[in-house]
Amino acid sequence: MLVDCIFCKIISGQLPSAMLYADEHISAFRDIQPQAKVHVLIVPNRHLVSLNDVEEQDGTLLGKMLQVAVQIARDEGIAETGYRVVTNSGRDAQQSVDHLHFHVLGGNPLYPRLG
Ligand code: AMP
Repeated sequence: MLVDCIFCKIISGQLPSAMLYADEHISAFRDIQPQAKVHVLIVPNRHLVSLNDVEEQDGTLLGKMLQVAVQIARDEGIAETGYRVVTNSGRDAQQSVDHLHFHVLGGNPLYPRLG
């Protein structure tokens, strides 16, 4: 846990959130400024700044984060209509919170088309 990290504070319950999922390793809560009808953030409970902090032994954690993303998409009713899982790493990607997170976005058409 990093003292000044807002996501660490949300995970530990020091800051309020709309929490949708939490286990020993992963938490998921609604984004406070949603960019789509459904906008949920999936985070590791351990403080990692971005994908750059991920090490080989974190493969299981990342896989589980993606499984949680799919489960959230199903629970929110967007698995069939479509959704994006996005992570911003660093300045050029405009990462604004320095605690690794996957955005799950859906519930309406998403622009621009990526890829
Ligand atoms: P990024 O810009 O990729 O680092 O994404 C950070 C996301 O965190 C943004 O979409 C913010 O709206 C969201 N965010 C910031 N503070 C909070 C908070 N207290 N609770 C929920 N989401 C937040």
